[in-house]
Amino acid sequence: MLIPARMSEAEEQRWVSVMLDKLAAQESKRLLGDAELAERAERLSLQYFGGRARPTSVRWVTNQNTRWGSCTPAEGSIRLSHRLQGMPEYVIDYVLLHELAHLLVPGHGPRFWRLLEAYPRTERARGYLEGVVAADRLPHLPAAREG
Ligand SMILES: [Zn+2]
Repeated sequence: MLIPARMSEAEEQRWVSVMLDKLAAQESKRLLGDAELAERAERLSLQYFGGRARPTSVRWVTNQNTRWGSCTPAEGSIRLSHRLQGMPEYVIDYVLLHELAHLLVPGHGPRFWRLLEAYPRTERARGYLEGVVAADRLPHLPAAREG
């Protein structure tokens, strides 16, 4: 850490603690725990589906690289790919709502999408995720050449 010169020890202490608080805030913003995820799902279900979608478990998984989320309606369990961590909250909320909706309607028919219309950022979140997938498919930039 670079500390500006000519700070008194007290100033320096204060400055360091402010920086550490900032870092901690960024960290917690980036990593939502399983408990927070379950809480969020409950809040979203209440807000958009009248609380009808009631998952028994909601958690992050790291073994899911081709799908953003999945659910097992028979068990009421929802899993979200860890790849969503660090994405905007409205995107995570969309994936949560998508899986919550599957607890009510299987498949992706008109009834399913009608449920998701209640969430105002469905289209935006889908666009964001499509962009991420497209970017993943781009060829990697060549390493800087010498000469
Ligand atoms: Zn789906």
